[in-house]
This record gives sequence, C-alpha cells and structure tokens, in this order.
Amino acid sequence: MQITSHTSLNHDNRKKGATINWIIIHYTALPDTKTSLEWLCSTEKAVSAHYLICRTGAIFQLVPDTKRAWHAGVSRWKGEDNLNHTSLGIELDNDGFEPYAQEQIESLMLLLNNLCIRHSIPKTHILGHNDIAPDRKIDPGPHFPWHILYDHGFALARLA
Ligand SMILES: [Zn+2]
Repeated sequence: MQITSHTSLNHDNRKKGATINWIIIHYTALPDTKTSLEWLCSTEKAVSAHYLICRTGAIFQLVPDTKRAWHAGVSRWKGEDNLNHTSLGIELDNDGFEPYAQEQIESLMLLLNNLCIRHSIPKTHILGHNDIAPDRKIDPGPHFPWHILYDHGFALARLA
C-alpha cells in the first residue's frame, strides 16, 4: 500500500489524553481529485481529513494521524461529542451520486486494516459521517458498499 504525502495545514492538536478510537468515512461531493486536494488544503475552507482515497485507488495522507483533522464538525456518537478529537477521517473522492470505484474500495480495505492494527481501533468502530451527524450529513451515501466492509469484519451492520 503506497501512501503519498500532500499536507493540509487544516489541523490542530487532539485534546490531551485523547486516543484514536474511531474511523469516519466521508465522500468529498466534488468532481475530481485535483479539486478535492485543493478543497481539503484550502485554509479558507478550513476542512480536512487524514486521508483522501482517489477513484484510481491512490491514497493521499493530508494530516498526520497524531493530529486533529477537521472532518467531522458538530458530531456525536455514544455520548461522545466532537469526534474529531478521537477519530481518523477518510475522504473518498466521489461526487455523491456515482457508484464507488472498485479500486477505491480495495484501497480503503487495505487502509482500514492497516489503521485498525496500527492504532488498535476495533474493526466495528468504522462509522459514516451520517452516523455521527445525522441532522446535517448523508455521506458516505447510499452507494457506499457497507456490505463489503461488513464481509471483511468491519462496521456494525451489513445494511444493503
Ligand atoms: Zn463528511
């Protein structure tokens, strides 16, 4: 698994003592990789994620795992607020209307495996942005293949 570094300054420190316990999946809702990289690195937009996975399966690291990326926003899960402190964010290059590319999902599986092992994150702790901000967000959307994740031991439910 090859990961290309493309640093976004849109990050700060996790709160003291916070450990990485969740992985949040997003779609970019943007047309292509170039636009996504610009968006996630724009200090004006002030958003980011730890990783961006392209339709080709290429993986970019935008924010170091140890830092707090700005991907979840106002969020809540199991009594915990502001999940940015305790999560890693993965953006998938997808406009929100198209099916996810097979190469992209294959790279996601490799990355999830790697991150769960490296940070001792339970494999069930993979959530969608819509899970933690249901009033505001629908990503990763109806095309996201939760069943593939579930069949690999990830996520809480197989869904469709
Ligand atoms: Zn999102």
